[in-house]
Amino acid sequence: MKRKILAGNWKMNLDHLSGAALAKEICAGVDAARSACEVVLIPPFTTLPAVAGAVRGSAVKTGAQDLYCEDEGAYTGEIAGGMLRALGCAYVLVGHSERRHTIGESNALVTRKLRAALRNGLIPILCVGELLAERESRKAVDIVASQVRESCEGLEGEEFSRVVVAYEPVWAIGTGRTATPEDASDMHGVIRIIAKELFGTAAAEHLPILYGGSAKPETAPALLAEPEIDGLLVGGASLKASSFLGMMPR
Ligand code: PEP
Repeated sequence: MKRKILAGNWKMNLDHLSGAALAKEICAGVDAARSACEVVLIPPFTTLPAVAGAVRGSAVKTGAQDLYCEDEGAYTGEIAGGMLRALGCAYVLVGHSERRHTIGESNALVTRKLRAALRNGLIPILCVGELLAERESRKAVDIVASQVRESCEGLEGEEFSRVVVAYEPVWAIGTGRTATPEDASDMHGVIRIIAKELFGTAAAEHLPILYGGSAKPETAPALLAEPEIDGLLVGGASLKASSFLGMMPR
């Protein structure tokens, strides 16, 4: 049995004071529940040190929302993987759809960021997902397959064994419209087929694939009941301890 992952992407919400308070509340809930699930908090960069302090001594892990593809140098405004590791970060999102579509990150940049994460000992959560128009024109499978293929091309098997993928249909993110468990599960199956093609059966079976897109306490149990769904990446519903903890698999 793979360990399920529940990750909360706080996006550009919560400063270091409110973030630390929420992290403490979540840690208390996670530690009391003694769940086998891996819980990850992903605050904004400036909130990260306070959250790292708040989770110290608990089972809860931290992650960052992005990193730069180089390890140091003249890259004003960017944050390197090593800086995140120094803060105790375990995870980092790579290629979140808000970065791909709002900020304009290309697949090529996402690939370089994925490598930077691995090089710096971070677990990358590689986000992939189709736009509504792509789903409606039946291109979703091709889009997601090519995002996975392009991002992971050339990785060694050992590197791929440290990757987590999050399937996040863009039309479901922040819209209140959750994918059905069947639709999410079908796409997770596609991602696993690509992983098998690139890295073999064992690697594909080992790969954790999270679902993200308006997941809430009401929709989480049915999503998590799908054998193909290894956990959830949660945005809006991760900003309150009660709703986030309400999605934790028991
Ligand atoms: C996300 O930002 O990764 C996400 C899934 O957001 P939401 O849950 O708000 O759709």
